Amino acid sequence: MALDKKYDAIVVGGGHNGLVAAAYLARAGKKVALLEAEGELGGATTSARSFPEFDARLSRYSYLVSLLPDQIVADLGINFKTLERSIASYTPYTNQSNGAHSGLLISQNWDQRTAENFQELTGSAAEGAAWQHFYGEIAELARRIAPSMLQPLKSAVKLKEEIALPQTWKYLMEQPIGEVIRDRFSDDLVRGVVLTDGLIGTFAPADDLQANRCFLYHLIGNGTGQWRVPQGGMGTLVIELRRVALAAGVEILLNSRVTEIDSGANGVSVGTKSGEKYIARDLLFAGAPQILAQIRGEGKPSSLEGSQMKINMLLSRLPRLKSGIDPRLAFAGTFHVNESYSQLEAAYQSAKSGSIPSDLPLELYCHTLTDPTILSPELSAQGYQTLTLFGLHTPAALFDKSPDVDKAAVTKAAIESFNQYLLDPIESVLAISQDGSLAIEAKSPLDLESDIGLPRGNIFHRDLDFPFIDTSGANLIWGSETSDKHIYLAGAGARRGGGVSGIAGHNAAMAVLAND
Ligand SMILES: Cc1cc2nc3c(=O)[nH]c(=O)nc-3n(C[C@H](O)[C@H](O)[C@H](O)COP(=O)(O)OP(=O)(O)OC[C@H]3O[C@@H](n4cnc5c(N)ncnc54)[C@H](O)[C@@H]3O)c2cc1C
Repeated sequence: MALDKKYDAIVVGGGHNGLVAAAYLARAGKKVALLEAEGELGGATTSARSFPEFDARLSRYSYLVSLLPDQIVADLGINFKTLERSIASYTPYTNQSNGAHSGLLISQNWDQRTAENFQELTGSAAEGAAWQHFYGEIAELARRIAPSMLQPLKSAVKLKEEIALPQTWKYLMEQPIGEVIRDRFSDDLVRGVVLTDGLIGTFAPADDLQANRCFLYHLIGNGTGQWRVPQGGMGTLVIELRRVALAAGVEILLNSRVTEIDSGANGVSVGTKSGEKYIARDLLFAGAPQILAQIRGEGKPSSLEGSQMKINMLLSRLPRLKSGIDPRLAFAGTFHVNESYSQLEAAYQSAKSGSIPSDLPLELYCHTLTDPTILSPELSAQGYQTLTLFGLHTPAALFDKSPDVDKAAVTKAAIESFNQYLLDPIESVLAISQDGSLAIEAKSPLDLESDIGLPRGNIFHRDLDFPFIDTSGANLIWGSETSDKHIYLAGAGARRGGGVSGIAGHNAAMAVLAND
């Protein structure tokens, strides 16, 4: 009979958080095994050659980085760089009075051109001033709150006191963000551009505090809230984390789907689908908490559904726009489509009642304008570009009836929504494979569940929580603890997890080390 393999800690799940947790523990001298269900590492942080004929390695799922603290990069010594985009966003719109096509271009740092764009849209300087004021306040809160993400959790009262920005705290944590946005801004389009950060991967109306939580995580990352382009694509992060984990002695076991977890007074025993057995003092579960609950035979934690379509495209060139702006400017930042405040609210109501929203709200981003290294030099020289489309308010329930037909319908709706603003329909600039197929791949929330184990396609594994202890979580110290003293959450579903941050992995490792 084979003997069980014995470790100090077993990490289940080789997404970026599992790798971060394993690397921290091994560097602290622990004997660590990491068990990953699939044949490759990365989970939602992978690069893939989605269109095999073309040497383009797209960030297949997650694509921009904001939440990863510099401290984790430095502690682990990973060679991973993110690049600033000079443009924050572009939002095309049709002028109500004369039907002309125009757009709101916002630079990363406030400048004269941005001020003029606000003036042209709203007819006054007031909205631009409101924008600067609002984001100035949030930037200060981001700077003060970010370090707490890698420390033990604090109570709401204590953290609020330490941050010492009571007004900003109130409107971000306590008052519905929709109400705040309506109060601070008067233009429907500007209000919508602000609101989008509360709705990424989150199926909620503007006045639901769930939108506040999502909004907060989108604006405090690494103390700046800036969304940056991962150099070399998202897979580079995983390659580097794997390198440091292996160097620290982590044993990485692929194709090892964990199907049994038993816990006793002295530790845990783990069984895989292929019949391997492992034992350890501690187990760090870096997949979704719903999967842990299933394996343990416990009730599933409550969760909002995932709510986004992800569409990856390779283009032979960028499409021209009806507004006449240079596409290299328009697509340099986040390109918002049909995301005015009223359109976002209408789309939510429509999806909630089971219909695909018309004028589907979308965000697009072009990786290759900032970092062409994900393309072969030949494709780059020929002018090829990548485009990533993230469709909002497309909850998993929209796809349940007939997954393939529904996915085709939502993809069509997304393309029609985008094409409203293009002079060249997007189909006309997609790269074409030799068999005539177009270089476009779509992932519905149900695909995300079957491909990478995100329950109902929820990109944060489950509902985001505020980064402090409030009415829930009184038993938490690092945000990773579970009801079993040998089992920790180390993935996005831990408190303060969610997004490409490594925070959940770091904090779970610290919780284990604190119990030595
Ligand atoms: C389409 C999409 C776009 C996104 N865009 C962004 C973005 O631009 N920026 C951003 O910050 N965030 C983004 N996110 C969110 C972000 O990618 C995730 O929140 C984050 O990557 C989660 O990382 P993780 O390591 O916690 O978990 P995951 O990446 O989900 O990895 C979990 C791993 O556990 C493995 N696993 C699960 N169950 C078992 C088991 N029983 N046994 C063994 N292994 C198991 C899985 O195979 C997987 O490899 C996006 C997500 C998606 C899906």
